[in-house]
Amino acid sequence: MSLADVRHWVFDMDGTLTVAVHDFAAIRVALEIPPEDDILTHLAALPAEVAAAKHAWLLEHERELAQGSVAAEGAVELVRELAGRGDRLGVLTRNARELAHITLEAIGLADCFAVEDVLGRDDAPPKPDPGGLLKLAAAWDVAPSEMVMVGDYRFDLDCGRAAGARTVLVNLPENPWPELADWHAEDCAVLRRMIQPIR
Ligand SMILES: [Mg+2]
Repeated sequence: MSLADVRHWVFDMDGTLTVAVHDFAAIRVALEIPPEDDILTHLAALPAEVAAAKHAWLLEHERELAQGSVAAEGAVELVRELAGRGDRLGVLTRNARELAHITLEAIGLADCFAVEDVLGRDDAPPKPDPGGLLKLAAAWDVAPSEMVMVGDYRFDLDCGRAAGARTVLVNLPENPWPELADWHAEDCAVLRRMIQPIR
């Protein structure tokens, strides 16, 4: 399959559609999470009350970040073009769904995604688990192999691979995971040029 033929796109949000602003090291310090631990996995293993308090802190912290979101280079133009030609578009984020909507609003892309096609950490097991991608595949009635997962981190690529989807790495100048990415674009402006049909 050529990128020009793809009609089903799932985007990571933070660092993919937006400029990355999360300071994960600072979040770990604030929540007393060891530097080597995955934040969501760590919280999931805590006693319910402690986990709830830390999730509440995280949500508040991320809400402020969401409201100030800035679109990544070329992301608005790319998504608008895909939406304009009628492609199916989804978002799969480890952020909260509510904050995903605030973020998409802030960067001017909220109207490009159906509300039910924006999946946050409460809607599906967090990436690299392929659950969210498979959920969208079922909702869209399409084979995962027809879908492309676009992201800026290896979790996005692992998720795509595990689901049987194709993968695109964006927003890194070099590709540290060539075995996981079917395509690599330095940013969404470059990716937009890559989807143009060959004439
Ligand atoms: Mg990301």
